Amino acid sequence: MVPIKAKNLVLGGDFGCFSFQEIKIMTTGGDGGMISTNNKKYVKDLKTLSYHGWDQDPLERHKKSLNKNKLKHWNYSITALGFKYNMTDLMAIIGMVQLKKLKYFNRRRSEIIKNYIKSLKDCKFLKPAFPYSFNNSSYWMFTLRCKKRDELIEYLKSKNIATTVYIKPLPLHPLYKKYKFKINNSLKIWKELVTIPTYPNMNKKQLNHVIKHVKIFDQKFANDQISS
Ligand SMILES: *Cc1c(COP(=O)(O)O)cnc(C)c1O
Repeated sequence: MVPIKAKNLVLGGDFGCFSFQEIKIMTTGGDGGMISTNNKKYVKDLKTLSYHGWDQDPLERHKKSLNKNKLKHWNYSITALGFKYNMTDLMAIIGMVQLKKLKYFNRRRSEIIKNYIKSLKDCKFLKPAFPYSFNNSSYWMFTLRCKKRDELIEYLKSKNIATTVYIKPLPLHPLYKKYKFKINNSLKIWKELVTIPTYPNMNKKQLNHVIKHVKIFDQKFANDQISS
């Protein structure tokens, strides 16, 4: 890999990064992302890096050539080793429409998660993975902690309920195995984590179906504990 060395680029605190992957709080049509900065001096470098290392935005170049005849509208220079991370018009227009729905998406996800927390509070063997707090937050998934996670996944699958295990600790992947690590807590807790559905269009019936079966599993688990 080639290290990126853009002029004046310092990492840490100057940028915000956003993912518009299809599973996030909003999407730009399947995938995409955004980088923001509050510092004007980085904007040009970011634009250059995101588009083949070109020194000028093609549209700007064309506009300028109309004003000053000396500039050739087709001319460009490569000034950095760049990428092709530009957003297409189609993605941008989907993103603009999604942005209008963002408040609704966030509200619905919060409602769903609050409902889960309230409905599952009496479960003995399952609990929310985190102390969820709804002030100024926009959760996009809800994670449960359960000692019999894999059985829970299988049980929910048999009831047509989709789950996933999000973000496996890196040292468990073959590529990173060779690095020394000490993440005992992560490895222990990760085995108990599972996410359950939180999509904004989830209706009451679907939500109740999930809650019902998570509770049944908890009850079954409780009975197993007693009988074994
Ligand atoms: C979404 C997400 C990613 C991946 O984002 P991309 O837009 O695919 O680069 C990585 N890490 C975390 C924690 C995420 O939530």
